[in-house]
Amino acid sequence: MLQLGKSQKAFDDAKRYLPGGVNSPVRSYRSVGSTPPFISSASGSRIYDIDNNEYIDFVLSWGPMILGHANPEVIASLQEAIPRGTSFGAPTLLETELAKKIQAFMPNMEMLRMVSSGTEATMSALRVARGYTGRDSIVKFIGNYHGHSDSLLVKAGSGLATFGVPDSPGVPKGVAENTITIPYNDIEAVKSLFAEKGDEIAAIIVEPVAGNMGCVPPVPGFLETLREVTKEHDAVLIFDEVMCGFRASSGGAQKLYKIKPDLTCLGKIVGGGMPMAVFGGSAKIMSQVAPSGPIYQAGTLSGNPIAVTAGLATLSILQRDPTIFKSVEDTTERLCEGYRKLAAEHGVPVQVQRVGSMFTIFFTDKPVLNFDDACACNNDHFQTFFHYNLERGIYYAPSSYESNFMSFAHKAADIDTTLEIAGEAFREIAKNM
Ligand SMILES: *Cc1c(COP(=O)(O)O)cnc(C)c1O
Repeated sequence: MLQLGKSQKAFDDAKRYLPGGVNSPVRSYRSVGSTPPFISSASGSRIYDIDNNEYIDFVLSWGPMILGHANPEVIASLQEAIPRGTSFGAPTLLETELAKKIQAFMPNMEMLRMVSSGTEATMSALRVARGYTGRDSIVKFIGNYHGHSDSLLVKAGSGLATFGVPDSPGVPKGVAENTITIPYNDIEAVKSLFAEKGDEIAAIIVEPVAGNMGCVPPVPGFLETLREVTKEHDAVLIFDEVMCGFRASSGGAQKLYKIKPDLTCLGKIVGGGMPMAVFGGSAKIMSQVAPSGPIYQAGTLSGNPIAVTAGLATLSILQRDPTIFKSVEDTTERLCEGYRKLAAEHGVPVQVQRVGSMFTIFFTDKPVLNFDDACACNNDHFQTFFHYNLERGIYYAPSSYESNFMSFAHKAADIDTTLEIAGEAFREIAKNM
């Protein structure tokens, strides 16, 4: 049905020059065993591939495009900015304007620094936390993703508190050993770890709404516990809101769950589709960053005027019309409610988990609270669902461990079409059960 001839050729060609044919692994469609459509353009809720297939897009560049693709106002501000020059490596008015804008959404960001990727933001936030506390160990949760820096590319083996085993060749054992991993949403594991080693721990880094094992909300008391133990032991609490920042709510997870982290990392939406990210938080901690303090951090393209322009335009639109968040969230809930009803009609066990405008359909009959739960889902059902949809023009994340996203450009007709095809896909799954 779906013609991907040109994409197939392009993929073969790309594989000769780029590892796996891509610049980021999940784009290769390896986990779904097929050829990724090569994208030529995108507009609103739609993306188009080089074979002229059209898709309703729920990946949205993995989150950034909350206003939909090629928002006319964002594009116009870029067109205005580009002729003035693409990079200066010097301060601009735009950067302070964006910092103020971010602070309006997230008052905890008393001071912040702009970087070029989420990876850079979390890596730098960790350095700041370590420099500030004078401690080396950090805590991360199994199944949370914080970019690909050495300290954070660590997964757990079995057991409750596993001391770092590198997740990738090339990560030094000595670095990984400083990363302690425990299960997400496990309040007792957090408490016992801190009772034992709290005074050696520089920071907890957490996705306050997990998105990188699929959408997994924090259980009641989880984030509160993180706040308590870090406070008690003078460790730094880092919220990695690179994904959930402007998705869980207008002020991210910290606003939704009313928890004040010490440091926050933002990315994705904050750059409006350009390479931009941010870390920041209390002025006391952030003033330790060079040149006002001793903790070194720098970047040639940090605060790049084009990236900042895209971020500023995006946040300005969101700030001017605060109903956008509610509207996007309502659309997401309507879609999720639709999935639940259709899956039930066809007798397919699913958990449709949603926070704000992030959502995942887990093929399982019990709620997914952590990475083990996510791994226990039915991957055959996911594969059937994914391919059935892609072939009919619905573009979901090509892995069961991912969140999908909604944009303001997705309208009722998009949702109707999406649900119609989802219903057929559930029927297809039911046939093979
Ligand atoms: C995407 C993501 C990152 C990494 O951001 P990049 O820009 O891909 O480096 C870090 N943390 C979370 C929670 C993310 O979703």
